[in-house]
Amino acid sequence: MTAVQAEQGVLAGDPRMLIDGELVQTAGGATFDVVHPASEQVAGQAADGTVDDMGRAVAAARRAFDETDWSRDLDFRVHCLTQLHEALERNKEHLRRVLITEVGCPVSVTGSQIESPIEEVKHWTEHGRKFEYLVDNGVHDTPLGPARRKLHYEAVGVVGAITPWNVPFYLNIAETVPALIAGNTVVLKPAQLTPWSGSEYGRIVAEETDIPAGVFNVVTSNANEVGAALSADPRVDMITFTGSTATGRAILAAGASTVKKTLLELGGKSAHIVLDDADFSASLPLAAMMACVMSGQSCILPSRILLPRSRYEEGLAILKASMENFPVGDPWTPGVMQGPQISETQRQKVLGLIQSGIDSGARLITGGGVPENLPVGYFTQPTLLADVDPDSQIAQEEIFGPVLTVTPYDDDDHAVAIANNSIYGLSGEVSSADVDRAFAVATRMRTGNVTINAKSHFGIDSPFGGTKQSGLGYRNGAEGFKEYLAIKTIGMPE
Ligand code: NAD
Repeated sequence: MTAVQAEQGVLAGDPRMLIDGELVQTAGGATFDVVHPASEQVAGQAADGTVDDMGRAVAAARRAFDETDWSRDLDFRVHCLTQLHEALERNKEHLRRVLITEVGCPVSVTGSQIESPIEEVKHWTEHGRKFEYLVDNGVHDTPLGPARRKLHYEAVGVVGAITPWNVPFYLNIAETVPALIAGNTVVLKPAQLTPWSGSEYGRIVAEETDIPAGVFNVVTSNANEVGAALSADPRVDMITFTGSTATGRAILAAGASTVKKTLLELGGKSAHIVLDDADFSASLPLAAMMACVMSGQSCILPSRILLPRSRYEEGLAILKASMENFPVGDPWTPGVMQGPQISETQRQKVLGLIQSGIDSGARLITGGGVPENLPVGYFTQPTLLADVDPDSQIAQEEIFGPVLTVTPYDDDDHAVAIANNSIYGLSGEVSSADVDRAFAVATRMRTGNVTINAKSHFGIDSPFGGTKQSGLGYRNGAEGFKEYLAIKTIGMPE
């Protein structure tokens, strides 16, 4: 790393895992390197946990669920998660530096990745505290006379949480805190590229909260087999997963033999339908910004822009100018909004997909390569491709880079058909001067979430989930909390 970066804040995270209440190395002491994507330098190491380590963590979580009263003592859980919220607040700047170090996320856009998840801990603690765990479902006639039915919401059991690298701290919290306050015990397996957002979370739980041994465990590893072991373990009752659709399919298959409850938030290839009456000067600069912030490494990014043929070149010109002026650079510098891709492998994947688009007849409007002024770090130019064939690889595969594809359409029906031409159904956007018209189009999009005129669908108050091959089940909202609960229906005398 450069001296400037060291001064600015590159910070190695904790190299230990949390298993059964202890902060530990793996048995043989093996570690793997964590690279700072803006400097390409090794920033430190993480424990390279094994399938055995995962087995010990699952055993600890099973024991804590079966043999302690964690799942039945709501007051104690509220106490522990209130402590966790306070501890995360105290560690906020430390967590921010670790996040920037391992992800390369620009400091200016870390709010949604640090402040928001810490707030979410408070939200879920309050939600769990107020939740009605026992609901009277009324008296019903049965052949043996009237019976009252009560619905008892109970923790599912041991939850395995597997997270990706793009928003690691946020997703570590989003997958585990609702599970914990609902009374489950948890084993978290963070992504290989971002182990520290998980290990730091484990350290804070161990050192600064009363969360008992075994209730929360973190196993870092450089091997996919360790996540696979968690998703196949018969002692695990539920898997909550965020990541690619390919891994989601493997997790679903691995859980089939024990009929594991499985919550999947997977990939996306969302479309933004810009209707012909839309205010292009408002909607398109924002569309370009969304493509570049987080280096395009966002699952909900509407990366396929659909422009009306009647205003096609006008739209392209606005997008081009917005992308060419986007502040790309060192993530530690305030004001920079796009940092590097997380790894050279990811950057090569992005560049390869751009080339496949060009090969299939797309017109490169801007970008397409590596910024000349940023030779070190895994940076990619904001890239705009026009005339993209909706059936081509670049229109069908998730790019996960600062790339927008643009396709012209003839009328609203045509736009909806192109938007729905995807195996994914995660998110989407519609822009129009006429909100009713935009709403009508939104209801025809086969996707879990839609934003109209930049008014975001995403928030802790509202359910978020994918349709088609983008997922199963919900995060956020009342529905997202209930995912971590099973309903026991109890029939009893009136
Ligand atoms: P990934 O699927 O490669 O990995 C995610 C996690 O799964 C990692 O922790 C990895 O170690 C683990 N894993 C890999 N193979 C496994 C297996 N066979 N069994 C169990 N676990 C296994 O995803 P990624 O590259 O880390 O993340 C990017 C993907 O995540 C993109 O597709 C993106 O759209 C998706 N994502 C979705 C959402 C959402 O809410 N829908 C949010 C963020 C990211």
